[in-house]
Amino acid sequence: MRYMACVIAIYNAKGGVGKTTTSLNLGAYLAQLGRRVLLIDFDPQGNLSSVLKGDSNLSATIYHGLAGLAQPAAVVRPSRISNYDFIPADNNLAGLLVELVGEPEREYFLRKFVNHLRHLYNYILIDLPPSLSLLTVNGLMAADEVLIPVQAEYYGLEGLSQLLETVALIQTNLNHPIKVAGALITMYDRRERLSRDVEKNLRRYFPHPVFETLIPRAVALAEAPSFGKTILEHDPASPGAQAYRRLAEEIVGKEIQNYPPAANFGNFMLS
Ligand code: ADP
Ligand code: MG
Repeated sequence: MRYMACVIAIYNAKGGVGKTTTSLNLGAYLAQLGRRVLLIDFDPQGNLSSVLKGDSNLSATIYHGLAGLAQPAAVVRPSRISNYDFIPADNNLAGLLVELVGEPEREYFLRKFVNHLRHLYNYILIDLPPSLSLLTVNGLMAADEVLIPVQAEYYGLEGLSQLLETVALIQTNLNHPIKVAGALITMYDRRERLSRDVEKNLRRYFPHPVFETLIPRAVALAEAPSFGKTILEHDPASPGAQAYRRLAEEIVGKEIQNYPPAANFGNFMLS
């Protein structure tokens, strides 16, 4: 079976907005909906690697794949959830930045790597670190779309116009037609006026789609990683879990619209 993955980078230059939580749990629910999913940890902190790895130790990481020390397929691991694979990261990834600085085409390393794996999955998600660096540029250059988590809090909207400028620079200076899949409102509390204001302003002024699904501020989402689990494994009935399930359904619901059957013979399946 051949697939042609849709590659989605999860990015916001701010830290602590829910990038890793979204990558981990969106991936789990896309897999539960029957899609083949690969999650690439592209943050040297390796937060999601520690959740998905269980007791196994991680010798080969994304660093080894990018540095040519391991074949792409050799750094992919299965998670406990079926259809859900991941590539771990650790602090070696930070060193790669330094190694890449003098390289020609240094913005394209992850993209070239991902191209070896695209035919095996429906979705490849890339969890990016905060700030703007050669790592995040590599992540955006490897992606077809970027999903932007936005925290429903006081400073949540700050920095968004700069983020869109970054995306525009990727499109024009690096000539890469990345699309904004949408902003995703995270840590939403409907009892708080501030949360509702952030939602209202984002839906009114954000020049790209905003996902219908709101991710609530939910203790279960924050505590699941401490049990080494996705929310699907930890507490699938909780509001946070239900929200990530709905987000996955929202994304799957756009498959036909984004990738018409004429172009891919339905559901990314090529043969
Ligand atoms: P980022 O990857 O953008 O830095 P994280 O996903 O690591 O952000 O989230 C930052 C912190 O907030 C983590 O401790 C995480 O468990 C917690 N968190 C993320 N999303 C939620 C949520 N919806 N409700 C409650 N806590 C959350
Ligand atoms: Mg993170």
